[in-house]
Amino acid sequence: MTIVRVALNVPIDSLFDYRLPDASPQDIGRLVRVPFGKRRMVGVIVEKVQDTQVKPEQLKAVDEVLRSIPPLPALLLKLFIFCNHYYHYPIGMIVMGCLPAKLAGVKSISKINTEQAFFMLTEAGRLVSINTLPVRDKAQRSLLTQLQTVGTLTSKQAKAISRRAPQLIALFLTRAWIEERHSVTPSIQPKRVSMPTLNAEQADAVKSIVAALHQFKTWLLHGITGSGKTEVYLQVIAAVLQQDRQVLILVPEINLTPQLEKGFRDRFPALSVICLHSKLNTTERTQNWLLAQAGTANIVLGTRLSIFTPLPKLGLIIVDEEHDPSYKQQDGFRYSARDVAIFRAKQTGVPIVLGSATPSLESYHNALTERYALLSLRTRAIKNAALPVIQLIDTRNKLLQEGLSEPLLNALEQNLVQNKQSMVFINRRGYAPILLCKSCAWMATCSRCSSRLVFHLQKQLLCCHYCGHQQPSPRACPHCGDPDLLPFGHGTQRIEAALTKYFSTARVVRVDRDNVQRKDAWAHIRQAIHEKQVDILIGTQLLAKGHDFPELSLVCILNTDASLYSTDFRAEERLFSQLMQVAGRAGRANTAGAVLIQTDLPDHPIYSALIKQDYDRYAKNLLKERQTIDFPPYAYQALLNTEAPKLDSALNFLKNALTIAPLAQSMQIYDPVPAQMPRLKGYERAHVLIQSHSRKKLQNFLANWYTELSKIKKTRVRWTIDVDPLEF
Ligand SMILES: [Zn+2]
Ligand SMILES: [Zn+2]
Repeated sequence: MTIVRVALNVPIDSLFDYRLPDASPQDIGRLVRVPFGKRRMVGVIVEKVQDTQVKPEQLKAVDEVLRSIPPLPALLLKLFIFCNHYYHYPIGMIVMGCLPAKLAGVKSISKINTEQAFFMLTEAGRLVSINTLPVRDKAQRSLLTQLQTVGTLTSKQAKAISRRAPQLIALFLTRAWIEERHSVTPSIQPKRVSMPTLNAEQADAVKSIVAALHQFKTWLLHGITGSGKTEVYLQVIAAVLQQDRQVLILVPEINLTPQLEKGFRDRFPALSVICLHSKLNTTERTQNWLLAQAGTANIVLGTRLSIFTPLPKLGLIIVDEEHDPSYKQQDGFRYSARDVAIFRAKQTGVPIVLGSATPSLESYHNALTERYALLSLRTRAIKNAALPVIQLIDTRNKLLQEGLSEPLLNALEQNLVQNKQSMVFINRRGYAPILLCKSCAWMATCSRCSSRLVFHLQKQLLCCHYCGHQQPSPRACPHCGDPDLLPFGHGTQRIEAALTKYFSTARVVRVDRDNVQRKDAWAHIRQAIHEKQVDILIGTQLLAKGHDFPELSLVCILNTDASLYSTDFRAEERLFSQLMQVAGRAGRANTAGAVLIQTDLPDHPIYSALIKQDYDRYAKNLLKERQTIDFPPYAYQALLNTEAPKLDSALNFLKNALTIAPLAQSMQIYDPVPAQMPRLKGYERAHVLIQSHSRKKLQNFLANWYTELSKIKKTRVRWTIDVDPLEF
């Protein structure tokens, strides 16, 4: 008797056993349809075994093996199992959550077969003489004739020829006249495109990586903004493609940086470059995923989740902007795509390049201790492009007009007069972050989260930026009835209004999530920026991510001090990298750039480091601080997170959880505390922090604890383990 062990999308950390008498080793990794309780579910065969703990009368049979879809490669299954062990999250939810929705759903799978599959004439099919087919069976004759003429047919095209096409296709398949295929684009040999000349540092980086293409090695490519990291990627990629291998490039954001995709297509015009991100519709995503799996896609450009794309010929992984927190999933399966990428590269025996202008302290520490190989690009790639000059505006004793100081307004005016482009960076959308009653100090807060509601002037709405809740702005204070409600603080909309009023002839454009939601909105704005139809650009961190604005010569930065008061120990590191990135937007091509930062804390070390643009020194100082307080990267952390309708139950769950925790040697276990954001989307949240100097000891502890926690019967408290947490 053959048993297959199947991963199913259920919150139980186990594989499920089913009978499959004719299972072959090739079935491992295949999608199956199985009965589960009263439901039918789609799962993936992870193992084939001879024995099972399930009683024979309870052992059910697999309904159907979906052989038309190629199986997941063994290495990918191993990657899922690694994640299951490392992140302590149910295996079935990992596997099914990483598949495109169309493949993971019961209903849509039959649709996929007809939409995706196409049939290719085999050599045997080509040799069949039409005259040997039954004279009366016109459908059979015309279908084969068509196949012999064109070579391939999709199900849809076949159906257009005859309504009996499905039966005839099945017949042709059994006679081996045709084969079912799932990829459309044939693989093409790389075409040579001339490559730009590299400067010495770039050339050195390319040479080093290319010299070690057939082994696992983690490279940290530390290059200041404008130093031409992308060109290094492109030339290394070219070397990998020449060996007919696939390249996976992870980026924090694609749909807002279409020039990146274009860059790859322009450089490798004859190759198949596919994108994988959440803005694609499910059909596109599935199709691209299948192209990657078939080995047909040469370059896969994707966000976080694409680290789980099957790539049979994987030769290189690149993680661009490796420090970006968006690589970490913040709910459910809380994996770090960057860390999983390193494991995947190791497993496959290929190099991985982590690129950043401001590497995360974890990666930088690994480079300093030589676990990663460090490559530095310290000069800007374009000739004559100097680093921007950064200046502080001390706002402590200055009168501000709508949050803007006089020197800042003067600089903007000067730039306008000279017909140059400027950007005002303020990382807060909406009009004002607080709506305040002057009489009783009432503030609009979200009923579902411990957050204040942000005032959006145009729509007269109060919005929660955490849960998405919206409500009309009240006409009077709901507490004391005073109609005089005051928008307090500044957001992008308010700065936009102020600048439009102040510079009445200037063309002011705002870029934030509210403004680029509509499809193509961002493309239009970008075009306007490039065509110099924009004088002042106002935006949030969306503008900081990998955009190239050649005409931009002045960057003004507002309201960044708040991060320096944050209790999050990574806040300063993040602010530094964000400010470096924003500052790097100024003066990219032939225009020398200037950066002005308004601050109440001009003496803070972050600003002097920023002015010197000295990442290394600053990072080393931060590392020293981390070492003193014994925090990552000098210690490894994990959280046990809970969510419950009441805070008490969340905290009590944690207290009980600690009583069943395994004996902890060389482990620091903190007391249960409410999360930094104690209430979110109607749930109260709390956690326990566990820390150790040994990753292995921490992992053993978590594994044992996870087993014990999984035995707890149903409660109203939801819990998850977050390994290497970024949010507390
Ligand atoms: Zn009031
Ligand atoms: Zn909310």
